[in-house]
Amino acid sequence: MKYARSIHELVGNTPLLEITSFTLPDGVKLFAKLEFFNPGGSVKDRLGQYILKQAIQEGRLQKGGTIIEPTAGNTGIGLALAAIKYGVKAIFVTPKKFSREKQTLMRALGAEVINTPTELGMEGAIQKAKELLAEIPDAFYPGQFHNPNNPATYYETIGPELYEALDGKIDIFVAGAGSGGTFMGTATYLKERIREVKCVVVEPEGSILNGGEPGSHRTEGIGMEFIPPFMDTSIFDEIYTISDQEAFYTLKEAARLEGLLIGSSSGAALAASLKEARKAKPGTNIVTIFPDSSERYISSDIYDGGEVS
Ligand code: PMP
Repeated sequence: MKYARSIHELVGNTPLLEITSFTLPDGVKLFAKLEFFNPGGSVKDRLGQYILKQAIQEGRLQKGGTIIEPTAGNTGIGLALAAIKYGVKAIFVTPKKFSREKQTLMRALGAEVINTPTELGMEGAIQKAKELLAEIPDAFYPGQFHNPNNPATYYETIGPELYEALDGKIDIFVAGAGSGGTFMGTATYLKERIREVKCVVVEPEGSILNGGEPGSHRTEGIGMEFIPPFMDTSIFDEIYTISDQEAFYTLKEAARLEGLLIGSSSGAALAASLKEARKAKPGTNIVTIFPDSSERYISSDIYDGGEVS
């Protein structure tokens, strides 16, 4: 008999899909890691599990303790799932603008969600989380924006999964960056093993990697307002700034052509991957990550409404 004995065993080892319905040059292949197959629905389930396991092992968090984290939502869902496993309470600070579905799911998993004003961005949420941390005893701050266990999660999981699935034949790796943990950890793993691999980071407009000013964007989950300390920007071989319009256009195409229900950060990653594919030589394998699905953005009009807000 083959069955899981807890939902937590089902985190990771997500499927890798070859994208075949978009027009690519002959001999160029594009693959996407479908992270919405994780039980909490995103790439961040891996982070929740890894960070809490480390914190318990290192004695920085005990059963009955509390975790406090500023999060756009998916990290909160991943941490809330892991909090059930480890018997700890979870409090999340989330800027109001982030999707209602994600906030509802965090609460469904037993977490408390505190909203901060949208205008204050992630910085506002981080500030509020720090205040709570000073007030609440036995609180642990997972700190995805500074914790080296964030990139370590992906170095130890997605990196090896991709490498093994394609027998190391990866020429270009493309991924979005929010905290940058997924990109940094996976790119580091791949660069250590594949000398020539090109690592391409993806951001929305209103993110600072390409020298732009921080600003608002509709693409959810990616975009940097500051560079986290674990981020080594020399690992970026190329940076694509993808407009909301292009991300949303591409995710709609993915649904229609490929039957893929992907979120807007996946739309941006796919748009950037297609740009790389169109200039690649025959024999090139490109791999990207689809962090979550569109279903958690239905109330944000992901498939209808205005393209850019
Ligand atoms: N896409 C989505 C939908 C996310 O929630 C996140 C995490 N904020 C990312 C991409 C980016 O992941 P990371 O924080 O590892 O850069």
